Amino acid sequence: MPLSESSLKRLREVVDPDRFSTGISNLSLHAKDESFHPAHLPDAVLWPRTTEEVSRIVKICNEEEIPVTPWGAGTSLEGNPIPVKGGIVLDLQQMNKILSIRENDLQVDVQAGVVFKDLNKKLQRYGLFFPPDPGASATIGGMVANNASGIRAIKYGATKDLIQRLTVVLADGSVIHPGTLAFKTSSGLDLCRLFAGSEGILGIVTEITLRLAGIPPEFLAAVVSFPTGEAASLTVSQIIRSGLSPAALEFIGTDSVRLINKYTETFNFPESPLIFIEFHGTSKEGLAADLELVRELCEDNGATRFEAGIGRQARAKLWEARYNLHDFILREHPGLEPMAIDTAVPISKLPDIVAFAEKITRNRGIIGYVFGHAGSGNIHMPMMGDPNDTKSWAVLEEINHQLVEYAISLGGTATGEHGVGIGKIQFMELEHGESLEVMRKIKKLLDPKGILNPGKMF
Ligand SMILES: Cc1cc2nc3c(=O)[nH]c(=O)nc-3n(C[C@H](O)[C@H](O)[C@H](O)COP(=O)(O)OP(=O)(O)OC[C@H]3O[C@@H](n4cnc5c(N)ncnc54)[C@H](O)[C@@H]3O)c2cc1C
Repeated sequence: MPLSESSLKRLREVVDPDRFSTGISNLSLHAKDESFHPAHLPDAVLWPRTTEEVSRIVKICNEEEIPVTPWGAGTSLEGNPIPVKGGIVLDLQQMNKILSIRENDLQVDVQAGVVFKDLNKKLQRYGLFFPPDPGASATIGGMVANNASGIRAIKYGATKDLIQRLTVVLADGSVIHPGTLAFKTSSGLDLCRLFAGSEGILGIVTEITLRLAGIPPEFLAAVVSFPTGEAASLTVSQIIRSGLSPAALEFIGTDSVRLINKYTETFNFPESPLIFIEFHGTSKEGLAADLELVRELCEDNGATRFEAGIGRQARAKLWEARYNLHDFILREHPGLEPMAIDTAVPISKLPDIVAFAEKITRNRGIIGYVFGHAGSGNIHMPMMGDPNDTKSWAVLEEINHQLVEYAISLGGTATGEHGVGIGKIQFMELEHGESLEVMRKIKKLLDPKGILNPGKMF
């Protein structure tokens, strides 16, 4: 049901006129994320600037049972911020202040709308950085809410591992500050971890204190080609089990390598699966010794090319190409949409899931680009199709099911980092069993009227 004039009037009074909109272009910009899931217009968009404004808005929405969907940068891949029940979108992008940098504690306080790339630019002069990196221009609030991770999670952890303290507006408008500034604590339940990955269904995160890392003085990178995806993924799993501690360990399947060669001028890799490895450390000698061990493991598994000693510029270009893969895939298939796969499995099962993904797409004649943060067992495989072509889209759905079910049977998860959103709701029962009921009870307790990002997760 559309919002009544009296509700709109109450909401309009909380923020300046230019931070409230019912205009169709603003509604459209907040109707869809980066996924294939259908757009849904909200009734209004509001841009709060303070926790107090968020609190007042949410309180009104709770009283009038108006759906509230928080919005970071809309870069989700599972429909997470689509306002499927209408109501308001709370766009936090104007809450973009870095509040305090405490370099001696390796901590920073930010508002939720700060974009992580801007934060890292600012932190550079302090020799610090916030390691999780989803590639897209995500906000810290969106990263907390999706528990984003990306290429460096293998060494530095995911967003949830780096939250010290939060400011959260609950569904009734009250404000809490879970967490501590101490490095460790055994005090009480870990509410920061509860809100991390909660996709806006439990509360609106308005401020975050993050734990940072020092920018490593030295790094070493290598690109290694393999004859098969299985050989490459087996090597990844062996590198991790050998106790080495890479900062990034990415797998890129043959079709993805082909696109990197095609759409960049810099690279001309052999058209076979490759892994990209990066080590961070304090001395070149120590890193070189690690890399020598990696070389031996790669050669034992039949590596066909081992390119080490990659300079800073080439490394930056390689990461850029890796991050642009999503765009290259879209450019290669104009008019088609990707169905995202984001399974993660225990590291020893990585070769199984890669082999399964390659086999299943080959057998069904489907275009699927296998790549991912292999060092943390996380594999993506966007499959290209037309959501309006029900017959062929149903084949992608079937493959999605088979892959996720296989990952779960290996002890893994439907989503390593993109979150549940709309796309992975169907696997929640299978993955969580009785625990799902506990999650539902927590939701009911914190949001009894179900106003926060309704239609998601359960
Ligand atoms: C090309 C591409 C590559 C990507 N690669 C990766 C990757 O490698 N790793 C990775 O982890 N992700 C990746 N992503 C996914 C996405 O970028 C991340 O999930 C990111 O954290 C989303 O942040 P956002 O600011 O865009 O949030 P949004 O998409 O706007 O919102 C995310 C969810 O959080 C909720 N939300 C937003 N802000 C708040 C808040 N302040 N309080 C409470 N809830 C809130 C929203 O309602 C929604 O449910 C990729 C996306 C793209 C497009």
